[in-house]
Amino acid sequence: MSIVTESLAAVQSAIAEAAARAGRAPREIELIAVSKTHSPEAILEALDAGQTLFGESRIQEARAKIPLLPSRARWHFIGHLQKNKIRHALALGFELFHGIDSLELARDLNRIAQEVSERPRVLLEVNVAGESTKFGFSPETLFAQVEALLALDRVEIDGLMTIAPLAPDAEHSRRYFAALREVRDRVQKEFGLPLPQLSMGMSGDFTIAIEEGATLVRVGSAIFGSRSGKGWRPAPDSAIVD
Ligand SMILES: *Cc1c(COP(=O)(O)O)cnc(C)c1O
Repeated sequence: MSIVTESLAAVQSAIAEAAARAGRAPREIELIAVSKTHSPEAILEALDAGQTLFGESRIQEARAKIPLLPSRARWHFIGHLQKNKIRHALALGFELFHGIDSLELARDLNRIAQEVSERPRVLLEVNVAGESTKFGFSPETLFAQVEALLALDRVEIDGLMTIAPLAPDAEHSRRYFAALREVRDRVQKEFGLPLPQLSMGMSGDFTIAIEEGATLVRVGSAIFGSRSGKGWRPAPDSAIVD
C-alpha cells in the first residue's frame, strides 16, 4: 500500500472513531483531502484509494491541476477567493466555496454568477476567535448581514466555515468549533435559514471538530505529508496564465 493510501485509511478510521464518540453516523462527515501544493500523481493515488473529494486554496494552482485529473475527482475551493479570480473560479466547477468572508465578496460572486449563469454553493467564513490576521465575518457582522446575504439570488448558502487559531494542542480548538456551531444554531433559529454544513477541523484537530459537529473536515498533511518547499508547479510551458 502506498503512504497516501495508508494515511487515508488512518484518517478515515479516526473519523469513524470520533463520530462514534459523539454518537454520530460516520456518513454525516465528509472528508476533504486538501491537495494544495501536492502533485497530480499524489491526488491520483488518493483517487485510486477511493477518495473523490479534494480541496484547493489557490485558483491559479487549481486551474493548472484540475484539468490533469479524471472527472470523477470533485473539488472544493477552501481558500480566500479574490475578486479578480471569481470568473476563473466559477469556470472550474467547484462544488462548494468555503471562504466567502464578506458581504462585498458575496455580492461580487452573485453578480458574476448571474452573468455566467452559475449557481455557486458557498459557506460563509466566520472568524470566531476574532483574530485580526484572519479573514471572515465576525459573528456580530454576520448576524447584521444575514438578510443582505439572503437577498443574493444566485448564491446558495449551505453553512459556515472556520479556521481555528494555531495552537500546540488540538483540545484548544474545541471552543472555536463549539462557537461556530452556536453561531450556526442562532442564525438558523433567528432567520429560518437552514445551514446544514459546518466546515471545521484540519489535520491537527479534525477529530475534535467532529465531536463538535463538523460535517466537512479539511485534511491535508495527515494524508499527503507536509507541504515543504515550493510545492507542485505546472510545467513552465503550460499555457495557464492568471
Ligand atoms: C491548507 C488548509 C487545510 C489543511 O491543512 P492541514 O493542516 O495540512 O490539514 C485546511 N483548511 C484550509 C483553509 C487550508 O488552507
